Amino acid sequence: MRVHLDAGRCQGHNRCRTLAPELFDVDEVGQAVQLVDGDVLAHLNHRARLAASNCPEYAIKLLEID
Ligand code: SF4
Repeated sequence: MRVHLDAGRCQGHNRCRTLAPELFDVDEVGQAVQLVDGDVLAHLNHRARLAASNCPEYAIKLLEID
């Protein structure tokens, strides 16, 4: 799985960091920061899906790859 944060859509709700702290952090102004270069380790796939499905701004996109 690959993950992409669209920083332009992020409104800083921080749900992504709460649900997937291995994948997201929040900077000093409250904007989400992606902690991985895109590739999600398999054991974190469920956290990536949680973060994406709970982002109210639809700022987290996932690409499922086999
Ligand atoms: S949940 Fe979405 S809007 Fe909120 S900080 Fe994360 S990426 Fe930004």
